Amino acid sequence: MYSVAVVEDEDLARKAIALSLREAGYTVHEASDVLVCRALLRQTSLDLIVLDLGLPGMDGLSFARELRRESDIGLIIVTRRSDPEGRVAALDLGADDYLVKPVHYGELAARIRSVMRRSGRERGRRKILGRWIVDLEARTVSKGAESAGLTRGEFDILARLIQAQAKIVSRQELLSVISRSPQEADLRSVDVLVSRLRRKLNQLDGDSLIATAPGFGYRLVAAPERS
Ligand code: CA
Repeated sequence: MYSVAVVEDEDLARKAIALSLREAGYTVHEASDVLVCRALLRQTSLDLIVLDLGLPGMDGLSFARELRRESDIGLIIVTRRSDPEGRVAALDLGADDYLVKPVHYGELAARIRSVMRRSGRERGRRKILGRWIVDLEARTVSKGAESAGLTRGEFDILARLIQAQAKIVSRQELLSVISRSPQEADLRSVDVLVSRLRRKLNQLDGDSLIATAPGFGYRLVAAPERS
């Protein structure tokens, strides 16, 4: 499951893109300007940014330049400009792709998949986690013939922790992964799922694979390896 930020100041356009990407299975964060997006970059592990060029404050092109200096995050630029110069400028900046408004949602989701594949960011689908093999596509966790028997929520939490490598993921973020309407659930349900995960993934030596960041969230004790 990829984590995508949609940076767009027009609320309706941003929410519509975000909704379509959530329905396509992405974890989506919304940012109305560059400052919010910078905060997201610090707080969460993002795979890709969908960036509108027409933003208040710092414009999208300058931000794209800044992003490229600092990271190799996937970058898809969205703009009203359809002229070739605009397209060339965006690609020159190191954007992975370029879409002209109005955005066709299916096309955007397809472009994101293609960017992740081309750039080698697509995660190997099988990961080694302690004694377990996690298949992110088949959504299985197994050890030889034995399956960990995770529920949907437990697997979604594990997949998000794997995605973050060994970085901390906040309980709020984990809650948004398991619940489409977070207000219906509460953060305690994240703790319950994590404790069940720990029990089901119990290592022979008793060491847990998941560490607690007290008062904040959880992380894997060690980054998973590709299988
Ligand atoms: Ca805009």
